[in-house]
Amino acid sequence: MPHDYDFDLITLGAGSGGLSIIERAAAYGQNCAVIEHGRIGGTCVNVGCVPKKIMWFAANLAHTLEDARGYGFDIQRHGFDWAQLVAKREQYIDNINRYYHGYMAELGVTEIEGSATFVDPHRVAVGDTVYSAKHICIATGTRPVLPQIPGIEHALTSDGFFALHEQPRRVAIAGSGYIAVELAGVLAALGTAVTLYLRKDHVLREFDGMLQTTLLEQLEHSGIEIRLRSEITAIERGADGALDIDDNHGERMTALDAVIFAIGRSADLESLRLDLAGVETNDAGFIETDLYQYTSQPHIFALGDVTGRAPLTPVAIAAGRRLADRLYDNQQGRHLDYRLIPSVVFSHPPIGTVGMTEEEARAEYGERIRVYQTRFTAMYNSISGHEVPTAMKLVCLDDEEKVIGCHMIGPAVDEMLQGFAVAMRMGATKRDFDDTVALHPTSAEELVTMR
Ligand code: NDP
Repeated sequence: MPHDYDFDLITLGAGSGGLSIIERAAAYGQNCAVIEHGRIGGTCVNVGCVPKKIMWFAANLAHTLEDARGYGFDIQRHGFDWAQLVAKREQYIDNINRYYHGYMAELGVTEIEGSATFVDPHRVAVGDTVYSAKHICIATGTRPVLPQIPGIEHALTSDGFFALHEQPRRVAIAGSGYIAVELAGVLAALGTAVTLYLRKDHVLREFDGMLQTTLLEQLEHSGIEIRLRSEITAIERGADGALDIDDNHGERMTALDAVIFAIGRSADLESLRLDLAGVETNDAGFIETDLYQYTSQPHIFALGDVTGRAPLTPVAIAAGRRLADRLYDNQQGRHLDYRLIPSVVFSHPPIGTVGMTEEEARAEYGERIRVYQTRFTAMYNSISGHEVPTAMKLVCLDDEEKVIGCHMIGPAVDEMLQGFAVAMRMGATKRDFDDTVALHPTSAEELVTMR
């Protein structure tokens, strides 16, 4: 029996995932709507990748100014205007927001402002209005997790970090993942005293051991105080507005301007009433999807961080585009290949990684693995006198030496990785790397000259 729906596709969430499917579906002639309660562009644009990268550039500049002395420049630093940078950063984001609104209008996509709640599997309500659709795609993203400790209301998450209009002078950060190490690096470079609370004795748990060790060393070398096996157990705000914290060793830190938690993110599903849509979540609270982004309900899909799978913007975009190709352009079987997803951590120095870590590869293939590794100081850093290590590793399989893992930390590796990720997707071997003529003098050439 034919149905009469308001839309062919409604997307819940106008972040990287939601916008990518809607853009392509609309281009294929579908009648689409997107529902969003926050700012268009979602986490990445507003409180994630975009503002983070701008802060990272500022931190790099702080390093460059120091480095200039090593190159003979007589440089005096006369301060840093945090508020001015934040104003420019927000202006940049406003422009992206405006661009997206215009683009949606151009594509004929209906933008609906508010929070969506399922009424039944084909209908969602926003306030008193109910909208129906043939397909619904859930792309509501994630939100930061906070621990239940006394005084947690005084803590910030990354959202709060991006709302700071003044530079904090003394900061404690709890967490060991992407966000904790990125924010620690940015703040330290800009002159904030940073203490990093790691509940274990490593950062970036799932990364190759070489990356973990090198970054931890470098975080310490850059003046960040690292507290291993330490957890913040209570926060107190004094009469002067400053924060004091206690940890699990009974130690107290006082006079902090900010305490930031970056200990992971959970799916943003609170108001959705997935039970009314027949959509199931897994034990970790994310929406379970298969390779084709199907949820447990055949006409409802989920994309991006809300699925808990490789929560990275380009993954959400790639999965969204492929889903639209499959649903609305008859590209049968099209889906995202979740293997060999490259990833960059914008730490100082940055990390680039793709494929299996040495630890994973050895666990799976044992003696069949061969590892090539190098560590050096790049020419630029040798002259600047700013000691920054570069370390690289290739993980290869069997006699053919197919490269199944490539891991790097060091200046510029963030821009190096993309091309090597293409080569690995195409099945490159160590011999292919070696047969590629080096670019000299660069750090990247080390990847094609490793012995
Ligand atoms: P992550 O999942 O990267 O890391 C959080 C880590 O914090 C955990 O792995 C855990 O590590 C530690 N942790 C967990 N609970 C506690 C606790 N109670 N106290 C102290 N430490 C704890 O989370 P993030 O919040 O940093 O980032 C979320 C996601 O956002 C990332 O996974 C990433 O996918 C994405 N992201 C990507 C970026 C990029 O591409 N550059 C940048 C920023 C975010 P352990 O158990 O080992 O101590």
